[in-house]
Amino acid sequence: MNRYPALLPGGKIGVFGSGQLGRMLALAAHPLGIRVHTFSPESDTPTGQVCEKEICASYDDRDAVRAFVRGVDAVTFEFENVPAHVAEIAAEVGKPVRPGGHVLHVAQNRLREKSFFADAGLPVTPFVPVQSLADLQAALAQLGTPAVLKTAAFGYDGKGQVKIDNPAQAGDAWQAMGGQPAILEAFVLFEQEVSVVAARGADGTFAAFPLVENRHVNHILDVTIAPAPVSAEVAAEAQQLTRRLMDALDVVGVLAVELFLLPEKNPHTSAQSVSSAFYSGRLLINEIAPRPHNSGHWTIEGAVTSQFEQQARAVCGLPLGSSAQTRPAVMVNLLGDLWAQGEPHWAALLAFPNAKLHLYGKSAARPGRKMGHVTVTAKTVDEAFATAMAARKSLVG
Ligand code: AMP
Repeated sequence: MNRYPALLPGGKIGVFGSGQLGRMLALAAHPLGIRVHTFSPESDTPTGQVCEKEICASYDDRDAVRAFVRGVDAVTFEFENVPAHVAEIAAEVGKPVRPGGHVLHVAQNRLREKSFFADAGLPVTPFVPVQSLADLQAALAQLGTPAVLKTAAFGYDGKGQVKIDNPAQAGDAWQAMGGQPAILEAFVLFEQEVSVVAARGADGTFAAFPLVENRHVNHILDVTIAPAPVSAEVAAEAQQLTRRLMDALDVVGVLAVELFLLPEKNPHTSAQSVSSAFYSGRLLINEIAPRPHNSGHWTIEGAVTSQFEQQARAVCGLPLGSSAQTRPAVMVNLLGDLWAQGEPHWAALLAFPNAKLHLYGKSAARPGRKMGHVTVTAKTVDEAFATAMAARKSLVG
């Protein structure tokens, strides 16, 4: 139940974490008259550069966490792996914590997350918990190969996972996990990876952005295409699943659901056998992120209300805005690899009048590091896609 009054202009959101998501949240909160403070172990951060106050302290410094929370009116997180005591302290101090610590608890661990989906009756990739090599061998016998072994805790962007193509690889795969608790998942031969970003207000209202297609390179998001090229039924089902999930988890804030879209009719793929065993639909939930998401960055230019403004509204206890899409949009990520030959050619990119550049203010460009993104909106998705690709290519001559 929502027992807090809405924040008014001049109110302060405290964000734990200081990356690009907090940065874009701060930029979206400003026009609403809402100030943002950030807390993380680093200084001169993407969020800190654009917000009112940047606190540099360890998450384990409980006094610093408490003092930070006392200085704001509502608390949120820009990544889900902040230690659990941070949300507990924030709740003890008596400030709204959105989303609540229970949401982080579920999202911090794949086993808890997938068990939650299954218990809520939501379609999820078949999985089996694995605590030992013997468990893994039994799980492989149950799910078959290929399969994917993933650490239960703290995995993202494909980190902490290994594909197993035949049972003889079990020993090596288990060693690669370093003895950590894990889950084994059936390998899904998906047709597309898609996601829904949605917001849920403090009063339970729900607003979902259109379903988008995500293309990854080396397990890192490369391109988001909005809307996804799917039928209206699939798009509506994905939004419906997201609504059920956010209601069941009682989320206040923005949440992204990443899903696999199974092929329509192909009795010879394991994807089909995965689905027909227990589920007649075409969407399987892979994972969630209880925060704005890389696959929602296009909403800054392509929707009536961006995912970051929705997050600000939800965290403040204000009404949500419209999530309607205004134009077809394509977003491409700019990774540190683009700096391999020196500074990218920014003027060349900015010569594309419809390419909107977002740089995150990170000083060190490492390969695979998300340094920024570009969004192009256009009359058609094809036009937006072609322009976004050409614009990014122009950065490296
Ligand atoms: P994750 O860290 O779970 O998001 O996985 C990263 C990427 O690995 C996903 O975006 C997929 O491309 C791929 N992947 C993860 N799990 C599976 C699976 N069960 N079957 C097929 N591909 C997968």
